[in-house]
Amino acid sequence: MFKAVFLQKNEQGEFKASVQELDESQLPGSGDVLVQISHSTLNYKDGLAICNKSPVVRQWPMVAGIDGAGTVLESAHSGFKPGDEVILNGFGVGETHWGCLAEKAKLKGDWLIKRPEGLSAAQAMAIGTAGYTAMLCVLGLEKSGVKPESGEILVTGATGGVGSIAIVLLNKLGYTVVATSGKPEQTEFLKGLGASEVLDRKLLSEPGKPLQRERWAGVVDCVGSHTLANACAQTKYGGTVTACGLAQGMDLPSSVAPFILRGVALKGIDSVMAPLAVREDAWRRLASDLDLNKLNDLTRTLSLEGAIEAAAEIMAGTNTGRVLIKI
Ligand code: NDP
Repeated sequence: MFKAVFLQKNEQGEFKASVQELDESQLPGSGDVLVQISHSTLNYKDGLAICNKSPVVRQWPMVAGIDGAGTVLESAHSGFKPGDEVILNGFGVGETHWGCLAEKAKLKGDWLIKRPEGLSAAQAMAIGTAGYTAMLCVLGLEKSGVKPESGEILVTGATGGVGSIAIVLLNKLGYTVVATSGKPEQTEFLKGLGASEVLDRKLLSEPGKPLQRERWAGVVDCVGSHTLANACAQTKYGGTVTACGLAQGMDLPSSVAPFILRGVALKGIDSVMAPLAVREDAWRRLASDLDLNKLNDLTRTLSLEGAIEAAAEIMAGTNTGRVLIKI
């Protein structure tokens, strides 16, 4: 038997999330690597799944948890053997395949990567999909030629998991970071992570003009909607906007003006189906470039039982930083 955050819908369609004891024989047969999960985490998508807020879960019942770190117990995959320390991010785990908010998970070896040296399982999950996505955004800016001397970088949704880790990474790499947040009480926290200035998110979240005063050399946008449209409209000639999130909305009420008149590039960031080589590169960079003391400062640790309550905080937009789940 093993414990897991179990998501169920009954015949009437009523939803329930609870911590349950499950039988190992129920684990999905399509997995070829059995992993003893030591740590997991809560991302925005876990919040959506656990609170049944949008159709994240596409198969019922489901074990939640899009991220996991642990030790291989059994493997029928040539790339892994018992004792290997592994991490899993995305690939539909916790959506269509039983996930990692659980003591055990049966995963596909093709989805796993070896945990990078220099990161503990707890640190890897404090980073989680949120931090790995932040790194993908930073890599996106770098590959587009945005350098520290290019100018200021805007990070939206700054107190969230992606935003807070993006600030820490960019600051360490020498960029000047301006954060937008809806939590004025967290201004000192954000400055402690490395933001040079913190703006009220209302300055970007309302409808704005198609072209505005040029300010940003690059953007890490976690919230979409008018915020992303205004970020594009304020990006300097030739700058790059990385779009990874939709906390404000999935819409993009923009115009082509920033793209055709200022050569602004809008770069989409996807963590879920990113190829293994891209993941490994991002995790290598996280192991070398992330300030682990700051990661510790922005992380709180909860048990499996605490995951359900914390998921509701993420959905209410009141969460700050990362939630590590110690299994
Ligand atoms: P969090 O919940 O930790 O953070 C989201 C932050 O967005 C909040 O803390 C808040 O920051 C801000 N926010 C919340 N609601 C609103 C709103 N209505 N308007 C404007 N800002 C708002 O989530 P994550 O950081 O984990 O994820 C951020 C986004 O990135 C999510 O939309 C998520 O789905 C997406 N994501 C995408 C991935 C991908 O592969 N593309 C991977 C991982 C995440 P503040 O109060 O500081 O403004």
